[in-house]
Amino acid sequence: MSSYDVAVIGSGPGGYVAAIRCAQLGMKTALIEKYSTLGGTCLNVGCIPSKALLDSSHHYEDAIKHFEEHGIEVGDVKFNLEKMIARKQSVVDVTTKGIEFLMGKNEIDVYQGVGSFKDATHIDIAGEKNLTIEAKNTIIATGSKPSTLPFINIDKERIITSTEALKLPEVPKHLVVIGGGVIGLELGQVYKRLGAEVTVVEYMDRIIPTMDGAQSKELLKVFKKQKVKFALSHGVTAVERDGDEVTIKATNNKKGVDVEFKADYVLVAVGRRAYTDGLKLDAVGIKTDERGKVEVNEHLQTNVSNIYAIGDVIKGAMLAHKAEEEGTLVAEILAGQKPHIDYNLIPGVVYTWPEVASVGKTEEQLKEAGVAYKSGQFPMRALGRSRASGDTDGFVKILADKETDEVLGVHMVGARVADLIAEGVTAMEFRASAEDIARMSHAHPTYAEAVKEAALAATEDRPIHI
Ligand code: FAD
Repeated sequence: MSSYDVAVIGSGPGGYVAAIRCAQLGMKTALIEKYSTLGGTCLNVGCIPSKALLDSSHHYEDAIKHFEEHGIEVGDVKFNLEKMIARKQSVVDVTTKGIEFLMGKNEIDVYQGVGSFKDATHIDIAGEKNLTIEAKNTIIATGSKPSTLPFINIDKERIITSTEALKLPEVPKHLVVIGGGVIGLELGQVYKRLGAEVTVVEYMDRIIPTMDGAQSKELLKVFKKQKVKFALSHGVTAVERDGDEVTIKATNNKKGVDVEFKADYVLVAVGRRAYTDGLKLDAVGIKTDERGKVEVNEHLQTNVSNIYAIGDVIKGAMLAHKAEEEGTLVAEILAGQKPHIDYNLIPGVVYTWPEVASVGKTEEQLKEAGVAYKSGQFPMRALGRSRASGDTDGFVKILADKETDEVLGVHMVGARVADLIAEGVTAMEFRASAEDIARMSHAHPTYAEAVKEAALAATEDRPIHI
């Protein structure tokens, strides 16, 4: 029987990063993955393929809507959905192959099969061959699966999750998206750009409800301009399919009125649930919470001392980079180091266009906590860079402590803010004040100048260009 210092179950961004860091720190490491490709949800059916389709559909939209204003005449522009989806798949294939390469480079033994606990130091692997390995420590990184509402039957044809939405055989005529969160809005925008009518039905009274209220408002405004329809404060009560037609029944929570939508496709994007099926957690007595998430302490250790858990399968934001940080943290703890994650500094991003990005506390959270703060906001339309590209929607908002001027939150909507948010993370990591950012030189012309201007606005209201 092969024996390891660490076995990692699941090869998503949490699992493969944990495995690499363990190997870097000299531990003999095994990685177990039930699918034939590595990379988990993120690389196979999540972050990477969704961004590939967002990029392709964005190019198409630019060609039909925006080239002309730049003086580019292209004639009759068409898209080929099959080709678009094939390209997405090739991006995924290259990326997952890259993880295979990294496993080899770091001398990590990869097992394909379903891992389950035999006891606290032995893992059964049910694959082409059934075998058992021994591991001093195990890291559970089994991720998550799309969740649904109890009365919805996901048939994967007309009533679909994000996984199917990444490979539809045709552009829907009318796509109803249940859930106005990140995944629903990103995929809704893909099909809107390709010509579908899109209606987003959201239970809360705003989209992206976990982000700053100003971001929700701005993104809603832009989406409405793009002719996406919204039914906010609507609780879906039934989803029924009749042939190629799906009826979605919902109740307007504010008015108490029942409404109906007809669609040819319904994307159920109401969140994801921790995935522990088949792991046999009971065999070792690992505790889960009421939502099925593996319970861990601040060292991400389960109630069984040599078994840890990371990523989507535990509490916290379901984000690839959060899972990665946790993978690194556990590896370093196993090596006797004392790493730390500041969860307040894990950025959140929506890759629609304009993009939306956030780090730190929202204005709502600061109000609720009774923190005295100042706010500085700068609109993208006031930037030369934005006018040059034509991307004038959005803003940067910086929230800083009223007394100390320490930056407490950075919230953005606009072109390339998914990349820009790194400046907010860096500033907050080093506990910068808004004045610190305001005094840093930002290259001109860049979208990043909005960060400097928002910081100037937060410190004595002295932005230059507005
Ligand atoms: P996962 O990536 O889910 O990986 C878990 C792996 O474990 C899977 O490969 C699974 O097959 C394997 N596994 C499960 N059980 C077993 C078992 N018993 N034995 C062996 N293997 C097992 N996040 C971002 O940060 N940015 C984005 O842009 C983004 N976009 C997304 C878009 C979509 C459409 C979706 C669905 C998600 C997106 N996410 C994004 C979320 C991101 O994909 C997850 O947060 C991330 O994948 C979590 O990583 P993980 O390692 O915890 O688990």
